[in-house]
Amino acid sequence: WTSGTVVDAENSLAELAALAETAGSQVLEGLIQRRSQPDAATFIGRGKVDELKAAVESTGADTVICDGELSPSQLRNLEQKIKVKVVDRTALILDIFAQHAKSKEGKAQVELAQLQYLVPRLRGWGEALSRQTGGSGRGGGAGGGVGLRGPGETKLETDRRRIRTRIAKLKREITAMGVIRDTKRAGRLRNTVPSVAIAGYTNAGKSSLLNRLTGAGVLVEDALFATLDTATRRTEARDGRVYTLSDTVGFVRHLPHQLVEAFRSTLEEVGHADLVVHVVDGAHPDPEEQVRAVREVLAEVGADRLPELLVVNKADAAPEEMLLRLKREWPDAVFVSARTGDGIDALREIIESRLPVPAVEVLACVP
Ligand code: GDP
Repeated sequence: WTSGTVVDAENSLAELAALAETAGSQVLEGLIQRRSQPDAATFIGRGKVDELKAAVESTGADTVICDGELSPSQLRNLEQKIKVKVVDRTALILDIFAQHAKSKEGKAQVELAQLQYLVPRLRGWGEALSRQTGGSGRGGGAGGGVGLRGPGETKLETDRRRIRTRIAKLKREITAMGVIRDTKRAGRLRNTVPSVAIAGYTNAGKSSLLNRLTGAGVLVEDALFATLDTATRRTEARDGRVYTLSDTVGFVRHLPHQLVEAFRSTLEEVGHADLVVHVVDGAHPDPEEQVRAVREVLAEVGADRLPELLVVNKADAAPEEMLLRLKREWPDAVFVSARTGDGIDALREIIESRLPVPAVEVLACVP
């Protein structure tokens, strides 16, 4: 469902399909409905539900993924009508984050976000719950098969209590891990090592750029969300100054609020950077929209006050007219290709010129 233009909806749906493939699904068909607002009961309108049911039957699909966040009752109603599992964008994104989280802190943060998403949707999700709390990390949407009845009230209450206990424990653990990270950060600050955070929409080429700039072997994947945990590399400017470059969590449109909350501490790392290198995919059909989405998240963690250097990546793959348009729109942006290496030296120079000048330390020598 969309209230915007069909082109916007198509872009968003293409991204949803890419997300679903990243999560390991095979995408069979896409359906778009334009209406001024979602249907209160079933998200999409009645006629569209029939169309969707027919599509599900003809393709043999076992899951429907909706582009948006459905209320618990919309999810339940739609599942009852079309008789296959219904997952929303939020559950899908949570699922991918769960699959890709590597660090202990990242895993705990995703589990917390999943449980927070799950709590209001508990009714009828008994099966999903046992898997969730078992920590296997499959997304909330993976739960409850066709027509799965809700657990009895008593079981539901026990489940709720277990989840709340788990949520409280995770929050304590995350706070504790945050303290360790803050200590490390304080150490870096004391050493006055300038830091550069690479932010940008997911798949914009942040890892590739980090590789190019530092020569380090960071994982690069043509999948959304290859990067979940921040990777920090030390590198040296031509004048010998050392600085750090960190790759950050991939941003995505409609990043579930549970995740923004869960990743706040990770994202706050960005808030302490001396410079934010904001990478944009110049070959994407709508780079401006991606920039808006990223800036929104940056603002949420207070990183919108930091100096930002806009870098348009994938210049090798972007059409000439697009590059001209973006140059007009963002005259101060640097155009590069992490793939071919074009513009990288110039970018490195600009980054280095924007690093804070180190304070001069005066050492008093006592004879
Ligand atoms: P991240 O999610 O922002 O970290 O993006 P990655 O660095 O993982 O890159 C995502 C995809 O874009 C990968 O398939 C890269 O090979 C590709 N890519 C990155 N930079 C460029 C570039 O300059 N040109 C082209 N054509 N592709 C690129």
